[in-house]
Amino acid sequence: MGPFYQEEIETASREQILAWQNERLVKQVRNVYDNVEYYRRKMDEKGVKPEDIQSVEDLYKLPFLTKDDLRDAYPYGLMARPLSDCVRIQSTSGTTGRRVVAFYTQHDVDLWEECCARAITAVGGTKEDVCQVCYGYGLFTGGPGLNGGSHKVGCLTLPMSSGNTDRQIQFMIDLQATILCCTPSYAAYLGESIIERGLRDQIRLKAGIFGAEAWTEEMRHDIEQKLGIKAYDIYGLTEISGPGVAFECSAQNGMHINEDHFIAEVIDPATGEVLPEGSKGELVFTSITKEAFPLLRYRTKDICILSREKCSCGRTHVKMTKPLGRSDDMLIVKGVNVFPSQIETVLLQKGLTSNYQIIVDRVNHSDTIEVKVEITPELFSDDMSTLSAREKEIVDALKSMLGIYAKVSIVEPKSIIRSEGKAVRVIDRRNLYKG
Ligand SMILES: [Zn+2]
Repeated sequence: MGPFYQEEIETASREQILAWQNERLVKQVRNVYDNVEYYRRKMDEKGVKPEDIQSVEDLYKLPFLTKDDLRDAYPYGLMARPLSDCVRIQSTSGTTGRRVVAFYTQHDVDLWEECCARAITAVGGTKEDVCQVCYGYGLFTGGPGLNGGSHKVGCLTLPMSSGNTDRQIQFMIDLQATILCCTPSYAAYLGESIIERGLRDQIRLKAGIFGAEAWTEEMRHDIEQKLGIKAYDIYGLTEISGPGVAFECSAQNGMHINEDHFIAEVIDPATGEVLPEGSKGELVFTSITKEAFPLLRYRTKDICILSREKCSCGRTHVKMTKPLGRSDDMLIVKGVNVFPSQIETVLLQKGLTSNYQIIVDRVNHSDTIEVKVEITPELFSDDMSTLSAREKEIVDALKSMLGIYAKVSIVEPKSIIRSEGKAVRVIDRRNLYKG
């Protein structure tokens, strides 16, 4: 069990968590309705009044918010406090369109840092530890969030920021860092660099907290081997606060969402309908304790599954899987939600490459789906009957994963068209959105 940063909260009973959520939600809805014109308009358009929201069960009545709303309301339109109450902004990278800017009061910063402190404590961090933070600092939330969490735990904090690998390794060794916080890809790179330099026996790392990008179990294993540590996942997004919205515990199989601050829902991305627990769908967050920039029912576009199964660590807060894909990528075929990532998983499990293409069409008013996948050069010499047996095997595996029939064609290496070196994953010939 444990260790915990805020044991009473992290191990609270279901009833207690719900009581907190109900009370805070009702207050938050009243707050945004009274103080944020943008919300008032959206709620009025949907015909919902603050008094219609009496508990978490009424949450579905509220309108969703999307990234488009954040861009529309940029920069001040969703603030619930005057600027003079705010002490910080953070921002998304803004690779497409306008940036998203989030505002924080000092109280917001404190609660965010406490969430990160829970994550650091969950991986075994204490005041005896030396925590090396090599996420970027600045507008990006990674560095500032973990830095603040590390202070709260009482670790000696090394605010390295990203890059300059030689300096990272030197500080890691000279200051005897024990906890590493960065992206999983940088952790793998650091591991390789340490081994190349023959310095593996001089590092004292025991755990790492890695987030801000997608990573697999294979990558976890790889990082753990290279650095001789336990590798843990962390989840968050700037719009909701930053890293620490959810974090992994000693069980290493899903991330506990800090439910005293965030209410999580999973919805069908196509219809917006709330799905029962255990369903795969789009993750939606409502921030119930935020002062400056509270978002209600914010659609993350991340696809995941929530679980309330009892966790061996003793925490009672709901767990989310790693994001399994993005709702933008979802296809609806024969009324079934299909994610390219599900198909990719099956192909890799069956020993094929990740060079594949999904072709969706509509023939005689009925959807069809075909998966073309390149064979590996080693298997290329297989005779025809072996290949068709393999195709059949993949058809069966896809059927059990997706619940629908998909045609499978194994094709020669390098025969799928690539765009800038990457295979074009999906071709949808149905023209569903024309006219
Ligand atoms: Zn746990």
